[in-house]
Amino acid sequence: MSITIPANISVEQTSKSRIQDVNFNSLQFGTVFTDHMFCCDFKDGKWQDARIVPFGPMTISPAAKVFHYGQAVFEGMKAYKDENGGVFMFRPDENFRRINKSSKRLAIPEFPEDLFFGALHRMLEMDKDWIKPGLGNSLYIRPFAIATQVGVSASAANEYRFYIILSPAQAYYTGEVKVVFSEHYSRAADGGVGFAKAAGNYGAQFYPTNLAKEKGFNQVIWTDSHTHEYLEEAGTMNIFFRIDDTLLTAPTSDRILDGVTRKSLLKLADYLGINAEVKRVRVDEIKQAHREGRLMEIFGAGTAAVISPISAFSHGDETFDLPVLEDSYASMFKQKLMDIQYNRSEDPFNWRHQVC
Ligand SMILES: *Cc1c(COP(=O)(O)O)cnc(C)c1O
Repeated sequence: MSITIPANISVEQTSKSRIQDVNFNSLQFGTVFTDHMFCCDFKDGKWQDARIVPFGPMTISPAAKVFHYGQAVFEGMKAYKDENGGVFMFRPDENFRRINKSSKRLAIPEFPEDLFFGALHRMLEMDKDWIKPGLGNSLYIRPFAIATQVGVSASAANEYRFYIILSPAQAYYTGEVKVVFSEHYSRAADGGVGFAKAAGNYGAQFYPTNLAKEKGFNQVIWTDSHTHEYLEEAGTMNIFFRIDDTLLTAPTSDRILDGVTRKSLLKLADYLGINAEVKRVRVDEIKQAHREGRLMEIFGAGTAAVISPISAFSHGDETFDLPVLEDSYASMFKQKLMDIQYNRSEDPFNWRHQVC
């Protein structure tokens, strides 16, 4: 993909970089931001005033519709640096398509492709010193769009702002992840917004997740809202199960987010000759496989942590521990994926996108 930076993106460089103040060896995920951010306003029926400016607070009216009706969508992607200083993104076209799919569902106008990639390229060039080489280091990229029109009437806004902010990240060690299979609360319903990265999907998960935390677990695996018999996904990760040597994962739907990591793992599994089945996964079937000693692994897949192995799950009053494997699919896939992302291996699927 060759990128021309659109001439209508204005750039204001920061007068003083903050990079010297940052300790890159103790970054807390998503708390430190680079020198620049991108904004663009939707007004009078079109996206305009695209600009890269120094990162910092911006004034928004308390009556802006985003605060009242939750018209907000986001994306999560990463940039990586190889040993020669080359900067890469991983399948960024997927994230671009997905934010517009999310926007459409939330009645937010879709964002133009040339501005999205132009802004990303320019910002990554400007802030590339914030990306450290080394496996696990990355720059987390957070594009998002919010309704800025003033007015507390419940209808779609006619003014929006699109932002891109960048946050340096280190390897994201989740530690032991113990999960609860949800029996009461739901994340998404048919016809709803589960497939979208809509802000409200996440806010609604915090309360049930806190209940799980009080019981000593870290996350909830959401089940279908009709029966709670089928395992769907985690809060920000798709979920894979390994029974014997077969991988299982739920099909995407309007309740399940179509993760880039998930679809990349399915491709890799196929490429490596690992049997992977996309099908609805029953809670009972997983418990049964556990009883028979055939449930080898459960892991989450998402951009932030890449792969998160799960060490135990609970359902009802029972807790089921998972074995610690020497040669897990989780660590094998993580290695393969990161080798592609960090330009350490061949890229048979053309997933790597060089920025500079
Ligand atoms: C972002 C997200 C994922 C993972 O998607 P990736 O594209 O792999 O990062 C999975 N589920 C939900 C609910 C998410 O928000």
